[in-house]
Amino acid sequence: MQILLAQPRGFCAGVVRAIDIVEKALDRYQAPVYVRHEIVHNRHVVDRLRGKGAVFVEDLSEIPAGSVTIFSAHGVARSVQEEAKLRQLPTLDATCPLVTKVHVQGRRYAKGGRDLVLVGHAGHAEVVGTMGQIDAPIHLVSTVEDVEGLPIDPDKPIAYITQTTLSVDDTRSIIAALHARFSDVEGPDVSEICYATQNRQTAVRALARTSDLLIVVGARNSSNSSRLREIGDEMGVPSYLVDDGDGVDPAWLEGVSTVGLTAGASAPDELVQSVIAALGRIRPVEVRTLDGVEEKVEFSLPPELRHPVATPESVE
Ligand code: SF4
Repeated sequence: MQILLAQPRGFCAGVVRAIDIVEKALDRYQAPVYVRHEIVHNRHVVDRLRGKGAVFVEDLSEIPAGSVTIFSAHGVARSVQEEAKLRQLPTLDATCPLVTKVHVQGRRYAKGGRDLVLVGHAGHAEVVGTMGQIDAPIHLVSTVEDVEGLPIDPDKPIAYITQTTLSVDDTRSIIAALHARFSDVEGPDVSEICYATQNRQTAVRALARTSDLLIVVGARNSSNSSRLREIGDEMGVPSYLVDDGDGVDPAWLEGVSTVGLTAGASAPDELVQSVIAALGRIRPVEVRTLDGVEEKVEFSLPPELRHPVATPESVE
């Protein structure tokens, strides 16, 4: 059986940076450090960091006074930043710079007097954070039908911003619907939203075209991983989302000669390897990586963590 690996797959620069922030904070400030929300949506990553002394909480009230507090890659509402300030918690912000860019865009559009539409999924941590970062009313839409129901005069200038991990194709359709319904629309081109989401979705399309079965490694609450699985489904390929190799069901492999394998932006490569190992226990496998984009994007760490801690030796 052939296993085809998507290129690119797995960790994006925002996830690498967020995990790095927790690890460097543990080195520098010692355990425990507190992380508001899962640093990225992956249980394995969270469990590994928990093992090193990170404590994950959903609410700042769970964090003891004076403790180092990290905001997750999805971003937080201003009210959370203000609460942390009020409690004088030393904070590190692991919000992905591409999410911060959406916050900045949204504020700029609102300041320019445009009614603001956010394309995203209600309740997702990033959407909650984005809505809470902009001091203006925001209309949330997640489908083309939602655009029809927007309570905004079609002649009013509007602008849209988007969640970073949506289906690129669905987002394009929703933006087209906004242009069809409103006369004055501003917003970023889909290609400017998140390079990693776009590249992984393009790669999974190429993968699905040549695979009998698609396996996506990623957590159920990972938006970008779910989108990858949906693309496989839409292309008529049986597609499954698994946490790791234990999630592989041998029954899926009946009549399958080529398995396409990819991973969401928050899934570590070791989990992809565990799926390859699980498939290899069922049948002999040959692994090949499809040609695709080589990503070179890196995001810098917050200033507090950029330089190594001075040790007595390094000071001498
Ligand atoms: Fe940032 Fe995109 Fe990765 Fe989300 S998927 S963390 S927006 S780089």
